[in-house]
Amino acid sequence: MSPPHNSLNSRHVAVIGAGAAGLVAARELRREGHTVTAFERQKQVGGLWVYTPSVERDLLSLEPDRTIVHSSIYESLRTNLPRECMGYRDFPFVTRPGDESRDPRRYPNHSEVMMYLQDFANEFEIEEMILFETEVLRVEPAAVDNRKWRVQFRNSRGVSGEDIFDAVVVCNGHFTEPRLAHIPGIDLWPGKQIHSHNYRVPDPFKDQVVIVIGNQSSGRDISKDIATLAKEVHIASKSGANGKKSSRYSNLHIHPTIERAKEDGSVVFQDGIVVYADAIVHCTGYKYCFPFLETNGHVTVQDNRVGPLYKHVFPPGLAPGLSFIGLPTMALQFIMFEIQSKWVASVLSGRVKLPSEEKMMEDVMAFYEKLESLDIPKRFTHFLTDPHWTPMFQNLKPHEAVLISQSDYFNWVAEQCGCPSIEHWREKQYNIAIKKTGDTYRDDQWDDQLIEEAYRDFAKFIK
Ligand code: FAD
Repeated sequence: MSPPHNSLNSRHVAVIGAGAAGLVAARELRREGHTVTAFERQKQVGGLWVYTPSVERDLLSLEPDRTIVHSSIYESLRTNLPRECMGYRDFPFVTRPGDESRDPRRYPNHSEVMMYLQDFANEFEIEEMILFETEVLRVEPAAVDNRKWRVQFRNSRGVSGEDIFDAVVVCNGHFTEPRLAHIPGIDLWPGKQIHSHNYRVPDPFKDQVVIVIGNQSSGRDISKDIATLAKEVHIASKSGANGKKSSRYSNLHIHPTIERAKEDGSVVFQDGIVVYADAIVHCTGYKYCFPFLETNGHVTVQDNRVGPLYKHVFPPGLAPGLSFIGLPTMALQFIMFEIQSKWVASVLSGRVKLPSEEKMMEDVMAFYEKLESLDIPKRFTHFLTDPHWTPMFQNLKPHEAVLISQSDYFNWVAEQCGCPSIEHWREKQYNIAIKKTGDTYRDDQWDDQLIEEAYRDFAKFIK
């Protein structure tokens, strides 16, 4: 497929990663007339959604020289959002009737998402832009004025190379490098520890007493998965009630956070309850990590804040040559990748202008000061969410919501590059879906009105 039309600047652009973000970035860059090389260290597209039963040698993923397994998907995983709102705008994530290998459910299993991404790559002939099994080892400015970028890479046969690009778009994902909670005494605690990144199936926990730290999406799923085989599962949660049992799983207990772990194998919760456990599963999230990136201090990661970045995408001192797709979290992902990619592509072609470096920096600093004035820690910098349902943001006043609301963010970015704002049904579906946390939420009945609205929109794109 050849690049389209136009007299705009055509740039030579490197995309790092061919997950959901890298795929749509490559498509949008080519649509805008750029030439694209995407680097992907795995054998196929899909990124996180490429399920593998393999896990890392170090189950906490702390060893610096470990061989990295990219995916954090567990075998039983189904999406935590309904499929309609998950897909890209012009390639809806609809069911494929008649194909037995597909999962038609509204909250499908992980392989259905993988197949959707493969379909997307096929439809837009994206694979022809990708160098598979090629890991990017280093990205650095190639000239003193930061106008060109040197990308060094190595393929699976050990052959190294480098190329010079006008721009680099970083799409390497941020669910591979585990974060761990600090637990006093944990170094001497004798049980087994594992981060959810390395969790696949409940079998290793059969008949054991297991503590799961964290009660967000993965923590909730994994604790229930383990509860099917374990003797007892105890969830340590910031909002946990004292030893309360789950209504559906008689062996599942919910506690507040852990106060201390002891050498005798016991774990003491904040409510004073003591549990002798065989294993701890840390479902405590991930760290942003760009081991290949050398920016001479222009971009740093501090307490999970990647910055300074103008609107989570462009480092003011290196824009537009360096950009990041997909950093915001707690938000609709694929549509965000699509909108951000359109913005980056249109800035690189010169169709859309960025403010001056000074103005972008002022904007970033004002944003950081606002977070600070609201006592929001750095690690929440890239959270986009409706503050009214997230406990940690519940004290924000309505006018402060714009600071982190996903629809305001999406619509702002969309406006920059002249693409339509987020659809009413998509935003509403997401806002309903994220509040659903019960044991059976994925199979609950839904408001058909929103689904109908979505499918009316999809009719424009389904052949
Ligand atoms: P990834 O999918 O991680 O892709 C990054 C790619 O970059 C990978 O292919 C990797 O191999 C490659 N790469 C990395 N470093 C290099 C390098 N140096 N050189 C070359 N290639 C490199 N989102 C939803 O919308 N719905 C869900 O239900 C949902 N469930 C989730 C469940 C879990 C357990 C997790 C962890 C996340 C979930 N998400 C979900 C969020 C999910 O991460 C995003 O949907 C999305 O898939 C992320 O895409 P990405 O392209 O940013 O990153």
